[in-house]
Amino acid sequence: MILDLKEVYKSGKESRDFFFLYEPDEELSTIPNVSVVLPVKVNGTLTLTGTHSCLVEGEITFSLKGECSRCLKETEKEYFTSFSEEVSDGENGYKVINDTVDLGKIADDAILTEMPLVLLCDENCKGLCGTCGKDLNEGDCGCRKQ
Ligand SMILES: [Zn+2]
Ligand SMILES: [Zn+2]
Repeated sequence: MILDLKEVYKSGKESRDFFFLYEPDEELSTIPNVSVVLPVKVNGTLTLTGTHSCLVEGEITFSLKGECSRCLKETEKEYFTSFSEEVSDGENGYKVINDTVDLGKIADDAILTEMPLVLLCDENCKGLCGTCGKDLNEGDCGCRKQ
């Protein structure tokens, strides 16, 4: 996901829109037995703010797929996140290198910010009984409650 600032300069405009489908590292998901569904959609706008600097703003739609963290049932859920980052050739933050901006790191970071701690099939998922292992969404198991 490389954006070339020279193309924007050449176009004579101050900004350009972009749309990418990208495939983040599978390790990006921090939830056990859950992975990011590929590809991930990224769209947004790059606005020049100087000769070697710009602002990238955009939105990311991604899905997580895997075991419900409580009942282990296969589940999939869509998430939405946005970013707005100043990119320059300065010391700090995201960098413009050879007049290009690599959106990969920015997108990865935006997804990580939105990454939930658990993936649930339903907010009210009752999970499995710790004693007999029955899926409590399907009914009570009869074990003594503590
Ligand atoms: Zn569940
Ligand atoms: Zn039980």
